[in-house]
Amino acid sequence: LVQLYIPLNFMGMLYREIKQALIDIDDMFRIIEQNPEIQDKPGAKPLEIKQAVVRFEDVHFSYIPERPILKGVSFEVPAGHTVAIVGPSGAGKSTISRLLFRFYEPTSGRILIDGQNIADIQQTSLRKVIGMVPQDTVLFNDTIGYNIQYGRWDASPEEVREAARLAQIDRFISNLPEGYDTPVGERGLKLSGGEKQRVAIARTILKGPPILVLDEATSALDTFTEKEIQDALDRVSRGRTTLVIAHRLSTVIGADEIIVLDHGRVVERGNHTSLLALGGVYASMWNRQREADQARETLKRAEEEE
Ligand code: ADP
Ligand code: MG
Repeated sequence: LVQLYIPLNFMGMLYREIKQALIDIDDMFRIIEQNPEIQDKPGAKPLEIKQAVVRFEDVHFSYIPERPILKGVSFEVPAGHTVAIVGPSGAGKSTISRLLFRFYEPTSGRILIDGQNIADIQQTSLRKVIGMVPQDTVLFNDTIGYNIQYGRWDASPEEVREAARLAQIDRFISNLPEGYDTPVGERGLKLSGGEKQRVAIARTILKGPPILVLDEATSALDTFTEKEIQDALDRVSRGRTTLVIAHRLSTVIGADEIIVLDHGRVVERGNHTSLLALGGVYASMWNRQREADQARETLKRAEEEE
């Protein structure tokens, strides 16, 4: 039995490794498809993380030459702080996160992490220190446990559970008949947008990167889920340098700095209170969103009374 057990166990390990290799290749193809030109410079060094300060210096960018998307964007996220980027759809917010991940390179200007230009460092070392919680999480066709474990392969089952607990998804998983072994994805259990996002948050907590990029979902989640997700995000961003593309008012209020982007330019910046006092783009965005929220609340209450 022992003899049989060992090879099976070994094959299991091998299988997992091959599967990870396949996923990494998938990721690679996605990146290559996006832009085959981004390559490490000869002799590129790995990034050295000290405090994890992120800095954009007069960044210009266009996907196609005749259409500039970012027109001189500068900002800094100090170590452990949170900067929120807000602005209308198409303003260039997600482009900023793609440039930080170096899916593309600025046409001019620089992006620095702890003083090192990300154009000069090894891409793998860059992606290792950045955790990304995207707007729409795509789950692998595997168990829910695997989907969290993906954040760090050497994490113990206890660490996986702890990450899930912090991301407020542990109770949900534990109540499933097969628990962490429940298959998810196209061929398994379908998760709601909020549940998928919490799986992504758990994965990121497990990875524990010094820099976080959060692209919040635009869709109106119900208030309860929204609060749960906000709590989970607050936990994961504590003590980490965080850039958040913000849609939720609660994130915006708490951010150390809010950057208002419009047509690829920073049109206003400051904290929530100072931007409201300014009475400009941010203030009108805020008021519009508040009215929408109130209208939704009224509607819900009317429905409940019926
Ligand atoms: P936001 O996140 O603020 O809504 P994005 O950064 O996604 O905006 O996009 C900014 C602009 O760049 C949009 O006009 C969008 O159509 C354009 N854009 C985004 N991705 C590409 C691409 N791969 N090729 C060409 N244009 C793009
Ligand atoms: Mg976007």
